[in-house]
Amino acid sequence: MEAKEPETVFTDQAQAIATAISEVLPNSHHRLCLWHIFQNAAKRLSQVFNEFKTFSKDFKKCVYYPETVEEFELEWQALLDDYGLGENTWLEGLYKLREKWAQVYARSHFCAGMTTSQRSESINKFLKKFFKRKLILREFVVQYDKAIADRREKKRLVETATMQTKRNLFCAWNVEYEASKFYTRKIFHYFQDELKKLVDWRLEFENDDGKTRKYKVVKLVTRNLETREIKRSVIYIPSTQSVSCSCRKFEFDGILCAHALKLFRELEFSSLPSKYYLKRWSNDVTYGLDFDIDMEALKSNLDSSSMVQYSELSHIAQRIIVKGTRNDQSYTFVKSELLKLEEKVESRKNSEQRHAGTNDDIKSHNHENDDGENMRLCDPKIQKSVGRGKGRMKNALEAKHSNKKVSSKRKGTC
Ligand SMILES: [Zn+2]
Repeated sequence: MEAKEPETVFTDQAQAIATAISEVLPNSHHRLCLWHIFQNAAKRLSQVFNEFKTFSKDFKKCVYYPETVEEFELEWQALLDDYGLGENTWLEGLYKLREKWAQVYARSHFCAGMTTSQRSESINKFLKKFFKRKLILREFVVQYDKAIADRREKKRLVETATMQTKRNLFCAWNVEYEASKFYTRKIFHYFQDELKKLVDWRLEFENDDGKTRKYKVVKLVTRNLETREIKRSVIYIPSTQSVSCSCRKFEFDGILCAHALKLFRELEFSSLPSKYYLKRWSNDVTYGLDFDIDMEALKSNLDSSSMVQYSELSHIAQRIIVKGTRNDQSYTFVKSELLKLEEKVESRKNSEQRHAGTNDDIKSHNHENDDGENMRLCDPKIQKSVGRGKGRMKNALEAKHSNKKVSSKRKGTC
């Protein structure tokens, strides 16, 4: 990790690992995996789980939802009182470790939205799928290739879904459209969840000291026939267009919370400051990283016409490469020219994508994906190909939708 300590480390409740982390990674934030805590709770409090069907939901609500320490303390006390657990020794021990598992204490540390040791667990599952304990070296190499190909294929499918599907927008605010262009499909859905909450919150100006403005964002909630206010404090610095919210959502998962978005909406921002779009959540963050080592996956997805083009370009490139390795001067010259060419190709690709983005707003088709959600599938780019007539046979999907006219006009407000 180039001597860089991780921001956050998730483990189960093993004391030996906790001690090791505090010694070896003193600057990392140690969190307890919530999946393991819920498993332990199911064992230690099995009687309560069986007797009260609402306990599981209330316990999780106490762990995940409070956004201030005061709210957490209120929820925890209510949980103990409602289920008569004030004397329970396991919960007493868990409470002492609350800063390592209650979400309210995690919000100042970037966790990419994770709350469990899911990353290592999923890698363990993935490795078990391809590797057995007694593989001989030759078999291991074959399995290794299969594992890498499987991983890349899954990544490619996700990227394809992001690039080829158009998001459904529900809001007239341009920021939703802007976010749909920037975020990956999955992250955009998380962002939309925050946008949908805007109607529940009310923004109230508190004071302005000339450099910073303080606001209160308020929502009314009703529980057991009692209505109370939930408040968040939002600080805004106009000179830097910076916002910070007491819920600390942006610090935790890198996506602005509904409270900060409420402020930008009320201030009539048509675009969010770029610092609130993290590159790690963007559409093209991994584009090109493994282009040169994933050629088999690339080739398997080309149609016959593109395959001919691929083959022709490969032969030209190989001839240039051979000529470039004759001597040092040739190598320097060819390398320099290839890098210039790559820059031109990249610039041309960006220009085409911008152009395609404009066209996408005009034409799109309805489509339902594997998850059952409605999305609009962008029209494929049509290019003239050598040796074909004026007409082009429609593929099955195009034929099915050829009579449908779908408006991409955005509806609704937020
Ligand atoms: Zn907030």
